[in-house]
Amino acid sequence: MLDADFFRRWMTATTALVDREAERLTALDSPIGDADHGSNLKRGFTAVAAALEEEAPATPGAVLILAGRQLISKVGGASGPLYGTLLRRTGKALGDSAEVSAGQLAEALRTGVDAVRTLGGAAPGDKTMVDALVPAVEALGDSFGAARTAAAEGAEATTPLQARKGRASYLGERSIGHQDPGATSAALLFEALKEAAGE
Ligand code: ADP
Ligand code: MG
Repeated sequence: MLDADFFRRWMTATTALVDREAERLTALDSPIGDADHGSNLKRGFTAVAAALEEEAPATPGAVLILAGRQLISKVGGASGPLYGTLLRRTGKALGDSAEVSAGQLAEALRTGVDAVRTLGGAAPGDKTMVDALVPAVEALGDSFGAARTAAAEGAEATTPLQARKGRASYLGERSIGHQDPGATSAALLFEALKEAAGE
């Protein structure tokens, strides 16, 4: 079973990975965006880590709701409300149990990803974070490792796609040939999940 401490570890591991990969995320956001994805997420997850330390929420759901709220309020770019919604809706779906199973987490994340799709209007294949989130959540029923691999493969598979949502879509065909920054950061979220599970 996964307790609040596990969810705090997941968020702090994400913060560390975002920190480490911030320059790469911003570099990916240069040719098909405005070169701020790394700094956006770094600012957001730094606030998440600080808030979790200060408030120490007692349940898995409360950890994710607090994290999501921080991202929504601290990140100006499109990715803040989208990631914030992902975590907040996943947290709400977990309810107020002190511990949840991996299966319950997979189910809750599915609700969170659906909320991201509703908010941003992106479907798989539109070259957004959804292209990593959807396969990751599908694979999460198998294992954390499978989810991480599926997310990374989903991110890589955005390279040949033409963007149909977000800033990159303004470039039309010129968005082809570049990996999507948001799909790349979504893969970090699942890498961190695997780390939090000690795998
Ligand atoms: P901004 O585009 O406002 O500068 P960021 O650079 O932080 O925000 O984030 C860009 C990422 O957000 C994109 O790479 C993409 O994955 C994701 N994104 C943008 N718009 C959408 C959308 N409508 N639905 C899903 N994801 C989106
Ligand atoms: Mg940007």
